[in-house]
Amino acid sequence: MKYNETPNQAADFLRQAVPLMVRNRIPPNPLNYALWYAYVSNKVPELNTALDSTLKTYGTCPNLLSEQLFRQHLVDDESKDSQEIHNGLVNLVNTLHEQTSAACEQTDSYSAALRESLEALSELNETEADPLPLESIIRTLSLKTEAINDATRLFQQQIDSAQSEIAALRQELQQTRQDASLDVLTGLFNRRVFDTELEQLVQLGDQQNLCLIMLDVDHFKRFNDTYGHLMGDKVLQYVGRLLKEECTEPLIPVRFGGEEFAILGPGFSIEQAVDVAERLRKRVEAIRIRQKSSGSVISSITASFGTASFTAGDSSASLIERADKALYQAKQDGRNRVSSGS
Ligand code: GH3
Ligand code: MG
Ligand code: MG
Repeated sequence: MKYNETPNQAADFLRQAVPLMVRNRIPPNPLNYALWYAYVSNKVPELNTALDSTLKTYGTCPNLLSEQLFRQHLVDDESKDSQEIHNGLVNLVNTLHEQTSAACEQTDSYSAALRESLEALSELNETEADPLPLESIIRTLSLKTEAINDATRLFQQQIDSAQSEIAALRQELQQTRQDASLDVLTGLFNRRVFDTELEQLVQLGDQQNLCLIMLDVDHFKRFNDTYGHLMGDKVLQYVGRLLKEECTEPLIPVRFGGEEFAILGPGFSIEQAVDVAERLRKRVEAIRIRQKSSGSVISSITASFGTASFTAGDSSASLIERADKALYQAKQDGRNRVSSGS
């Protein structure tokens, strides 16, 4: 994105951005300054629409979403965290530059050859000389034409391979970003994202509802022992898929670790959280594991759930602890059930 305002305009935008950030409880870090500066300057209308709808949903803009919006609308594909990829792109541009210069030199020498030949031809016209010089001029032109064709072809090849290299680097960059926040097995957000998000939501205090749902697959050790770890992995992947399907925005499903998952429910009352958990419990209970060869059902699985809602004075740890306690209660009460904490 280009910033070409005058110092006065820029100061004016900042004056507008700061109160907005304060009002919406946006942490004043450089990323958020850039985001809200862009917002008040209305440089990227799609960003404004996205921020408006986020504010409507959350009453603020959670860190994770700010980061996403920043990348999507302000830096696009610029590398933030991968110096290697950045260097790769710089090298690529340098190579392209060298190739362009080589091709330009060829073109220059071709133009010069043409000019000389034209001058020679016009001289010939005047003197009506024999055809021999004409033949040699044409031969020179033909040789030069071949040379320029070769250079152009080579240049084209370089551009083609540079383009696929750029595409590969882009993909690598995307991967690096995803790796940092996604769980490899299920594709859900990982514990790191969960910790950051929960911390921010908790800091908003009791200005809004917030629920936490913890999910733990029942007797999963036994399942692994009976059917093998790989089959266990498939079950976890499938549970992850169910979570993605059931937890639409603003719910945030994550893999908490091992066979445990967590769902953050900003704006959710405890009753709504219990509904979500109950819906998921039924879907997990309906999973049937079949033998590949015969298709006959060999096992089913269940999961237990604990829910808790934020109350004044809660920290991330105390909220997790209460959801965990409720989960423990669900296990004690016989598993495959939802237990609601306070
Ligand atoms: P409970 O109903 O009390 O939760 O019993 P459990 O057997 O599920 O609980 P326990 O904590 O004893 O065992 C959890 C098991 O989950 C043990 C571990 O091997 C398995 N597990 C954790 N992560 C993975 C994973 O990524 N893949 C597979 N296949 N198994 C995993
Ligand atoms: Mg467990
Ligand atoms: Mg378990």
